[in-house]
Amino acid sequence: MPLYSFQCPDCGKETELLVAFGDTPSCPACGSVAMKRLLSRVAPHANADAAGTPCAQAARDGALASFSPSECRGCACH
Ligand SMILES: [Zn+2]
Repeated sequence: MPLYSFQCPDCGKETELLVAFGDTPSCPACGSVAMKRLLSRVAPHANADAAGTPCAQAARDGALASFSPSECRGCACH
């Protein structure tokens, strides 16, 4: 069975559980069966993507002030 990360929306606990396909996991802390499966936390491209945004480029060039947040898609520099 695959190991998935889940977060409980009721108590906020994150846990890794082995679940069979179609199985409904329950929260080990509070027993909620509304557990949400988390997408993989392995995101090796996240930083690379942010570094490739126009504003990140501008920040490196010292020209960030010329960028408005609307031009700054997908990063948190503003
Ligand atoms: Zn819970």
